[in-house]
Amino acid sequence: MAERVTIIGSGPAGWTAAIYTGRANLEPLVYEGAFNEENRLKGTLPLGQLALTTEVENFPGFPAGDMTAYLDSSIDDSKRRYMAPHGKHGVSGPELMELMRQQAINFGARIRTDDIVDLDLSRRPFRLRTLSGDELETHAIIIATGARANYLGLPSEEKFKNFGVSACAVCDGALPRFRNQPVVVVGGGDSAMEEATFLTKFASTVYLIHRRDSFRASRIMAERVIANPKIQVKWNSVIDEVLGDDQKGVTGVRIRGSVDTAKTEELPATGYFAAIGHTPNTDFLKGQLKTNDKGYIVWTTPQRTYTSVEGVFAAGDVADDYFRQAITAAGTGCMAALDAERWLAAQGVH
Ligand code: NAP
Repeated sequence: MAERVTIIGSGPAGWTAAIYTGRANLEPLVYEGAFNEENRLKGTLPLGQLALTTEVENFPGFPAGDMTAYLDSSIDDSKRRYMAPHGKHGVSGPELMELMRQQAINFGARIRTDDIVDLDLSRRPFRLRTLSGDELETHAIIIATGARANYLGLPSEEKFKNFGVSACAVCDGALPRFRNQPVVVVGGGDSAMEEATFLTKFASTVYLIHRRDSFRASRIMAERVIANPKIQVKWNSVIDEVLGDDQKGVTGVRIRGSVDTAKTEELPATGYFAAIGHTPNTDFLKGQLKTNDKGYIVWTTPQRTYTSVEGVFAAGDVADDYFRQAITAAGTGCMAALDAERWLAAQGVH
């Protein structure tokens, strides 16, 4: 029998859609993604980008304060064990995701730890196929697969991935190779500010390489970076090459002036962190939904989460290259759930 609603993705959009469709008694089926090496390298493991971050300071309802007892009682002990001690911050990204996941389960969501690798949207019910080979049919789909971090695409960057090259300081920054050593962060947005600031906990110096002479990041985060004595900003500079060898991995970078292109400089570093924006996770759609020029799914109707195929809804960063916040993702997840519920009711599927 066909599922009523299948949710693909497990960030704030996916879990909020699951909570709302669960409460509507639709027993949503959630594909949270597969835990495998390919997803780890791409940055597309279950629980999405928030699982790769530290404190979440701006999610309403989680003000700074000690919530240890609450979190200990609401997140399974086996998962609490791999999370950092709570301290006095509001909530961490992984904690927030585990709380949302548990909330979805409480309302009847069923979860599969698998990827959707193929789907047929040309007929209804829609057909889906998973990485592990399962096939299923579903009346409605909510796509909430998010986005992943970009790399510059240099061969030397690719060569040293996991050997000093990373796009996630929060995941990898505490590794021994970065401790008391200089590291490099590339980018000028909030991600770059966050990564650079975080890395100062471990590194001796953080070189922040930015191609222009001003940051795009929010003022408060940029000011924190400028005021941090451990961060050295290299303005108007681009990465020419990631330097290293097979034994040591990354040993430094060569940067080049973006204005004065003849000017180069070598910086010693054991780590190189890319923080230069994101790409939506839409490969599995194989062109069956309308996307914009950057590959993000297009919402076809104002104030709705409808896509170019009736019965398929999109929520979160996969359809949003502008706001890209946890709270906006959760908000559109809620909208997609309500859109899907109403559409299913109109089809006579209850
Ligand atoms: P972003 O705002 O798009 O910034 C990307 C940065 O990378 C820009 O500074 C850009 O330079 C640079 N860049 C892009 N391609 C490059 C290339 N090929 N070579 C060199 N530099 C390149 O992306 P983001 O920082 O990942 O932030 C995305 C969204 O998430 C934003 O809405 C942000 O507010 C949000 N966010 C929020 C938080 C927080 O509040 N805690 C943390 C992280 C992210 P130009 O400036 O020259 O274009």
